[in-house]
Amino acid sequence: MQSHFYTEHSHLEKLSGNLFYGHEKLYIKRDDLIHPVVSGNKWRKLKYQLQTAQKNNQTHLVTFGGAYSNHMIATACAAAALGFKSSCFVRGHELTAQSNHYLRLASLYGMQLIPVNREDYRNKLHLFETHFSHDPHAYYIAEGGEGEMAYAGVEEIISELPFEPDFIVHASATATTTTGLLMGLKKYNMKNARVVAVPVLLNAEEQFSKISNRQLEQQLMLATGYEMGGYAKTTDKLLDFMQKFISETGILIDQVYTAKAWMALQGLIEKKEISKDKSVVFLHTGGTLGSI
Ligand SMILES: *Cc1c(COP(=O)(O)O)cnc(C)c1O
Repeated sequence: MQSHFYTEHSHLEKLSGNLFYGHEKLYIKRDDLIHPVVSGNKWRKLKYQLQTAQKNNQTHLVTFGGAYSNHMIATACAAAALGFKSSCFVRGHELTAQSNHYLRLASLYGMQLIPVNREDYRNKLHLFETHFSHDPHAYYIAEGGEGEMAYAGVEEIISELPFEPDFIVHASATATTTTGLLMGLKKYNMKNARVVAVPVLLNAEEQFSKISNRQLEQQLMLATGYEMGGYAKTTDKLLDFMQKFISETGILIDQVYTAKAWMALQGLIEKKEISKDKSVVFLHTGGTLGSI
C-alpha cells in the first residue's frame, strides 16, 4: 500500500475529437488517474509533506478545508492509506460529517472533522496551537497543501514529460501548481514551454503577483475570462461544454476546476492564440469527485 501510494507516474495520452478544431498535437497528462480519490495535484502537493511527517515520526496530520475541499479528502485518504491519524478544521460551524459527500468521505477515511466558524477559520496557526500544541506528533499541513514541499512535488510533473511541449494548460486557484510547474521548467531546462494558467476564480492579479514575486512570470500565460463569475460558479455554457467533452472523450472533468481550463483551451485554439502546429499538454489536475 505504502509504496504504491508513492510510486505512481501519470500517463500522457493523445486526445482527438471535435471539440478542439482538429488540433493534432494535444495531449493530456492524466494526473487524475494517479488515485481514484486523491485529486491529482493534491497528491503532488502532499507527497513530500507525507514523507517528511513519516520521517519525523509525526503520525497525526492536521489540515484545513472548506466543505467541498479536494485537499481535505486527499489528506484523509492518504492518512488512512499510510497509517496516519488525521484531523481537519472545516470552515462553517454548522457542518457535520453528514452534510455532504465530501465530508462523509473524509469521515469514512477516519478523519476527525472540527467545524469552526468563518472568523476563527481565518487564524489557522491559532487553531492549530489551541487544539494540538500538546500533541508532539501533530503535523501542520496548510490549506490546499500549499508550501515549498508542494512545489517540489509539482516540479516532478515536468520531469515526467517525454518532450518539451509548447504549452502546458491547467486550472489554477492558489497558483501553487502554476508556480511548481514554472519552477520545474527552470529545473529541467525547458526554456520555450509556456505554462497557461486558467484562473477558476476572480483572483488573477493575486496569482500573478505570487508568481512575479518569484520572478517566474517569463514563461507564464494567464488565460482569464473563464472564471464564470467566480469560484464554484457555473453557467449553462460551461455545463453544456462539460457534457460534450465527457461524452466525446470518456474522460471525466469537473465544473469547479478542469472544465473551465478546457474551455479556455478551446477558446485559445479558436482565437489562434495557440496555433495548429503547437504542442499542448493539458494537465488533468483531478477533482472528479466534484462531477458526481
Ligand atoms: C485544488 C485544485 C486546483 C487548483 O490548484 P492550485 O495549486 O491551488 O492552483 C486545480 N484543479 C483541481 C482539480 C484541484 O483540486
